[in-house]
Amino acid sequence: MIWESGMNILGHQRILELLPRVKAQTFLFTGPEGVGRRLVARWFTAGLNCEGGFPPCGDCASCRLEAHPDYLEIAPEHETKTGRRARLPQIRLEQIAPRESEEPNLLDWITTYPRFRSKVAVVDGAHFLGEAAANALLKVLEEPPSFARIILIAPSRELVLPTLVSRSLEIGFAPVPEALLQQLTSDPEVLAYAQGAPGRVRWALEHPAEFNRLVSRTQGLLEAVQAGPAQTLEALKLLGEVEGALPYLGQRLRAHFAVESPAYKAALEALARAQEADSAYVSEDLVQTWLALKLSQL
Ligand SMILES: [Zn+2]
Repeated sequence: MIWESGMNILGHQRILELLPRVKAQTFLFTGPEGVGRRLVARWFTAGLNCEGGFPPCGDCASCRLEAHPDYLEIAPEHETKTGRRARLPQIRLEQIAPRESEEPNLLDWITTYPRFRSKVAVVDGAHFLGEAAANALLKVLEEPPSFARIILIAPSRELVLPTLVSRSLEIGFAPVPEALLQQLTSDPEVLAYAQGAPGRVRWALEHPAEFNRLVSRTQGLLEAVQAGPAQTLEALKLLGEVEGALPYLGQRLRAHFAVESPAYKAALEALARAQEADSAYVSEDLVQTWLALKLSQL
């Protein structure tokens, strides 16, 4: 269902008050992963199409639909055309505009009439739009059909092409206060991991084994750092197998070292450079070895 009456958005009260009132058709939702940007996009779609308007009732013909025909989410793909796993995800031109492949695409979808009142297309990961795809999307943003809304989602505006940003109304999502997150859990480990993102709380609660692996391997790394470069490298390799490990490591380093200490600054710097090298396609082995040496010298 696009919206159920029991569904709950934690925080973002001002955004929920503002969205139904604005005339803009193109939005840029910025904020950390898991903070609630997609959930609000679904709520917005539900309200635009609900028999009773905002807030969506969760009970009318539109709200009750399992897969809503007026809602589309486009996300980057990790696979390349040849089936190899790409290091960097990308939103391809074929996902935005019609090509010979006749893949379903945003442009064709958004220019046909809605089944209810309004169509909402979400481009989740607008910072992963390839140049050709971004240019094709730009044409839609310049003159969207009157019944259409387009929501770009990205961590921050700086990561999105300026031509796309300038045609969008930015809605910034701030981290959700911990007092609200406590409605979901009282586990201090999970709350520390969440960093104000309800989606991260839900992930940790739904994947306890993976979450525990992340916590224990990060702890293992912090201990290995004291033991020497070889142990650090081994611990880093283990940690590297867990999704989203590096950002969490940065968070734990903050708790591990005194914030003003030179060791903390050096550790964060090393981590930032490792993440940079990682996204610049430097071999994972090299990055880990280098980071292991750096961390164990602190
Ligand atoms: Zn409804």
